[in-house]
Amino acid sequence: MRKPLIAANWKMYKTPTESLAFLRDFLPLVKHHTRDDIAIFPTMSSLAYVIEACQDTRVDVGAQTMHWLNEGPYTGQTSPTMLASIGCDHILLGHSERRIYANETDDMVNWKLKAAIAHGLVPIVCVGESLEKRQSGLTEAVLRWQLACALNGVTPSPNSPITIAYEPVWAIGTGSSASPKQISEAHTIIRHEVAARLGDEAGENTRVIYGGSVKADNIASLMAEPDIDGALVGGASLDPHSFAKIIQYAYSLE
Ligand code: PEP
Repeated sequence: MRKPLIAANWKMYKTPTESLAFLRDFLPLVKHHTRDDIAIFPTMSSLAYVIEACQDTRVDVGAQTMHWLNEGPYTGQTSPTMLASIGCDHILLGHSERRIYANETDDMVNWKLKAAIAHGLVPIVCVGESLEKRQSGLTEAVLRWQLACALNGVTPSPNSPITIAYEPVWAIGTGSSASPKQISEAHTIIRHEVAARLGDEAGENTRVIYGGSVKADNIASLMAEPDIDGALVGGASLDPHSFAKIIQYAYSLE
């Protein structure tokens, strides 16, 4: 069965010192937690420190973005080889803030996904509709289109199991989460599209998680839905006790 994943997207928050201070408080709180996978996506400047601090723990660490090529004259970019060389094993792809503020296109998400798989990085691919598209009745079309592009020509690999994060743009950082019903409808569409693109087995095994204003007080109702396989948490993951509480609410700490 699909093991749930609770992941923290720290966006552009926390210096290395602040990241390590977070981990000093957080790691003991989840030391014995085995029910869910846990991953943290810190900023690039904190990445190597967080990877080192999370060694020999149950917490995986990933980057928030990368280029798809191994090297080249691309100022400001980081390649998959560079990430793998410092022990980074997860990668967040296609976050709406990258799509909106860094002009990341569906094609780029596809190239990055292929590069992630080629380098054994475990990808979380973010998809989700804007408020305008939802109000125009285009949620399903947007999700299918983003997935069709992202998964085009992709060959799944057991070393890089793909997770899809459904992140409606209108729910990110707004304090109001999508409802369990809205999320379930979207996850059903996503699972069908993954199956259509990658086969029934992938459709069944691919984790589909939700992101958008997840907090300690709404995680329980979200995780009660059988087709929500976890959460991608932004704002509420920045405090160690808040993030641990989310994990604790999702499934009791063992
Ligand atoms: C995110 O950035 O992926 C996210 C879900 O943010 P927030 O939890 O703050 O809405």
